[in-house]
Amino acid sequence: MTDRYAVIGNPIGHSKSPLIHGAFAQATGQDIEYTAIEGPLDGFRATVEAFIAAGGRGMNVTIPFKLQAFEIATDPMESARLAGAVNALKFEDGRIYAQNFDGLGLVNDIQRNLGVSLAGKRVLICGAGGATRGAILPIAAQKPAVIAVANRTAAKAHGLKADFAAHAALQAGGYDELAGETFDVVLNATSTGLSKDELPLPAGVFAPGALAYDLVYGKGLTPFLKQAQAAGVTQLADGVGMLVEQAAEAFEWWRGVRPDTKPVIERFTIPLV
Ligand code: NDP
Repeated sequence: MTDRYAVIGNPIGHSKSPLIHGAFAQATGQDIEYTAIEGPLDGFRATVEAFIAAGGRGMNVTIPFKLQAFEIATDPMESARLAGAVNALKFEDGRIYAQNFDGLGLVNDIQRNLGVSLAGKRVLICGAGGATRGAILPIAAQKPAVIAVANRTAAKAHGLKADFAAHAALQAGGYDELAGETFDVVLNATSTGLSKDELPLPAGVFAPGALAYDLVYGKGLTPFLKQAQAAGVTQLADGVGMLVEQAAEAFEWWRGVRPDTKPVIERFTIPLV
């Protein structure tokens, strides 16, 4: 019987996951079916249980179910426990294993695809939501000189610093506290990629040769990337590589085979103009 996988979210019509996993399956010769499920807002657990009963082997989880997926997991892995959110589930022997591959996908994209090593670098993450939570440990594992988290609501950044105190030394606060500091890698993990809002970043926050990376994808030149460009940054990226890399991690976790991400990233890249 063909093994079944799916991405669950609401809304889900825009999801590229079925195409990405379809491309991985074809390239690696894996016989799987991968569909998109629009989960009802008040019936996440029941929908997952019905999928498992129908032979489901794994799921990707997207907005707004990443926290509920954590709650139904019987075996959350460390990546999911620390992020408090889940983006991949595996169903095996009556257990629900849970992972959060977003941060690893981000780091793999920056280092392998963009060729920027994080070791010894000063890294700034703007935003203190789920994506930032998932990114901190994979970034810390690369031994950057500094990881700073800046957030509109400074208290949320402080809370995050406390939550991660045993695992990573973070600088955390509001954007005004960045005055006079420069960073080699500046990540936009806020949801402003979907709006017209710029971030209140002080002048000079981008070091010469910096990378500016917006985690959102498919939006072209976002307000944050425009802001970086206006400050003289030439190395700009959006989150399409992160999306494909986190999918590759899930695919390997489920199937034991590592797909080549490069052709899939190329297929989904939208020029940053
Ligand atoms: P959350 O909703 O958890 O967090 C949103 C963050 O954005 C908060 O820190 C919030 O600050 C901040 N924010 C919202 N509006 C503004 C504003 N106008 N000015 C300044 N800060 C603002 O979102 P996620 O962490 O889940 O996602 C963040 C981004 O990452 C999204 O764009 C998402 O698409 C992207 N993403 C990309 C992935 C990929 O595979 N490429 C995977 C996962 C996420 P405050 O606390 O003050 O409200």
